Amino acid sequence: MKLTKNNYYSQEANLHYMSVSQFKSYLPSYGGCEAGAMAVLHGEYVREPVEAFMEGHYLHAWNEGTLDDFRADNPELYASRGKTAGQLKANFQHCNKMIEVLENDPMVMKALAGQKEVIMTAELFGIKWKVMLDSYQPGILFADLKAMKEMDGKFWNSEMGVYENFIDHYGYNLQMAVYAEVEKLHAGRSEWLLPHMVVVTKQKPPDHEIIYFDFDDIEQGLYIVGKHIERVKAVKSGEVEPVRCERCEYCRSTKKITRIKHFSEFRLY
Ligand SMILES: [Zn+2]
Repeated sequence: MKLTKNNYYSQEANLHYMSVSQFKSYLPSYGGCEAGAMAVLHGEYVREPVEAFMEGHYLHAWNEGTLDDFRADNPELYASRGKTAGQLKANFQHCNKMIEVLENDPMVMKALAGQKEVIMTAELFGIKWKVMLDSYQPGILFADLKAMKEMDGKFWNSEMGVYENFIDHYGYNLQMAVYAEVEKLHAGRSEWLLPHMVVVTKQKPPDHEIIYFDFDDIEQGLYIVGKHIERVKAVKSGEVEPVRCERCEYCRSTKKITRIKHFSEFRLY
């Protein structure tokens, strides 16, 4: 299957290829759920669209240089009634502020320069993966653009029993490791390019940062993927039954009580 920008996020593409977000959607440690992931993959369940996704798309359209088209194609970005009718909704006006912050920082613009939204595929761990690099300077670096609520929060990992930062919590280290490996294979090089992340926060005023990952981080990220990949492959191929988490949107919407719980099962962590 040949991937394009139009079919990259399609069901067919997700059936053919693994992606980092698909991979994480199977893993409870990243807020995923096997049963939910399978229902979404086969179109039996559609996840509620979240406003934050649109804000991310808005920012990515700016990075790609297609913001005018994006605005024209998405009238829901604009208020339709009241005193502000016809104006960009407040959260997208704030996206403009975030873009301004990025545009006014020369180091950011250097990191985000190059080819935009570059699609690559490669075989890793015995299956085909797809990645889309937000910004790509072949032979130099690639960068991923992220809009975050904030960068300071600490997140409880109940599986590991530790607090972690937003990068580990959202598995951005895995994402950067897989992207680096796919790019390396795609380019036919023996060394990885250093992955970079440009983060801008939705705070007022926005904070921003450029973060890089080194070879040790890539190795560690690939190790974590390797630890879980056989299970994910077995579930995706239908070889084993997906496990329900009983917590996610999908499980909640299809839940039937099979066992009465003792109150002590409701522990804080
Ligand atoms: Zn679930």
